[in-house]
Amino acid sequence: MGFFENVNQYFDQAAQFSDLSPGLLEQIKACNSVYRMRFPIKRDNGSIQVIEAYRVQHSHHRLPCKGGIRYSEMVDQDEVMALAALMTYKCALVEVPYGGGKGGVKINPRNFSENELERITRRYTFELVQKNFIGPYSDVPAPDYGTGEREMAWIANTYMVLKQNEPDSYACVTGKPLNLYGVPGRKAATGMGVFFGLRALVDVSEDMKALGLKAGLEGKEVIIQGLGNVGYNTGVFLQNAGAIITGICEFNGAIYNKKGFDIEKVFKEFRETGSLRKIEADKFIEDSSAGLEWPCDILIPAALENQITKENAPRISAKIIAEAANGPVTPDAEKILLSKGILIIPDLYLNAGGVTVSFFEWLRNLNHVAFGRMDKRQEAYQSNSILQLMQKMTGKKIDEKVFTDLTNGPDELDYINGALEETMTRSYHDIRSKSIKSKTSDLRTAAYLLAIERVSEYYTTAGIFP
Ligand code: NAD
Repeated sequence: MGFFENVNQYFDQAAQFSDLSPGLLEQIKACNSVYRMRFPIKRDNGSIQVIEAYRVQHSHHRLPCKGGIRYSEMVDQDEVMALAALMTYKCALVEVPYGGGKGGVKINPRNFSENELERITRRYTFELVQKNFIGPYSDVPAPDYGTGEREMAWIANTYMVLKQNEPDSYACVTGKPLNLYGVPGRKAATGMGVFFGLRALVDVSEDMKALGLKAGLEGKEVIIQGLGNVGYNTGVFLQNAGAIITGICEFNGAIYNKKGFDIEKVFKEFRETGSLRKIEADKFIEDSSAGLEWPCDILIPAALENQITKENAPRISAKIIAEAANGPVTPDAEKILLSKGILIIPDLYLNAGGVTVSFFEWLRNLNHVAFGRMDKRQEAYQSNSILQLMQKMTGKKIDEKVFTDLTNGPDELDYINGALEETMTRSYHDIRSKSIKSKTSDLRTAAYLLAIERVSEYYTTAGIFP
């Protein structure tokens, strides 16, 4: 079964709990526009290579469409359609007002020089501009697997050059570097969102008790697959909260240490050498997929889709699977995992931190003003007055550092991280409540159901046909 079919299977499973009409469900599920392109680029050695690429707009119920761009050899139309559909449901779930979109370029970035990657990215952007598949009000890409700030900067610059007179042109893409109209916190946002989501989950004592676990992240044993943007940042936030990173799996090997790893050190070594082999560990194995089967409390797939299938699902021994990647568990595998009592916290919710902070970046680009610029000073004055009054009333002096911190007022990162925390925490409890109310036996079905209902509200309010 293809990835898009997997997503649709999850959709159908959830739709059974709703009383929406079959026609409306069909409309929500349908993939609206697919742009498949081929374009040539010149390699450094003078040869010409034809590149296969896609941009998919799954839903236009809200505009712009939003979704990352993936550079991977595994990219095909089915994958990009599935990822675009997931974006529609994800945005609805965390109440970010976008339709779902996704882009993909079928290359392994490791096989191209930086100059070649720049040529590919600029040419891809040019193709998107020509067909109106990019723009601040139509379709706004972001980073995904194999891309990052560098690629987003090339996209923004290309768009800017082609659309000289558009004052909002920098809102055509998010995940940009800070000095090119990005926002603080975007790079780590998906990982931070995974952390907030997991924290919300493990803080519910009765749910943890059912799994035979204590509430809270402290001491939880965690295995992470994929030490890229999402996996690394998730690991850092979890480690800082007291979780123990006992296993790390990369494409070329996996390591295990009962006492835990220092994720920063492992990340540095992996970036420098491209391997985990030399890290001090209880175990190293070359077949990294077997690392997913090591015992742990929380298994975090943060690499690619279809990592847990009906073949390896019976051997998974984690108590919680936290889907930081998109589509890591197939529907067949999910049935096996749920029957073993494993709790799955689904992708469409858990990795929504990236699009949430992308939304803030887009808003900032359209507003042309940094968050907090208008109210930071006012908030600082208010805190100062309250603290002065407290000192006067109690006769006690407040610690100087605490006083300074509180009277400095929040900075832009505080606003962004606070809004991300609120979004992820609130959304988790929305899903949990939905699951209890609708008697779905798992969180994914509840998450899809909530997303479907939210998208349907647009159609029932606005009318399906223009
Ligand atoms: P990335 O390219 O930064 O990192 C991916 C990492 O996974 C790389 O280190 C790669 O070597 C590793 N990897 C590849 N194949 C592997 C394998 N078989 N086993 C173990 N490791 C393997 O990508 P990313 O941005 O961190 O994205 C990872 C996942 O998170 C993807 O599914 C993506 O769609 C999803 N996601 C990313 C974002 C974002 O903001 N970047 C947002 C939402 C969802």
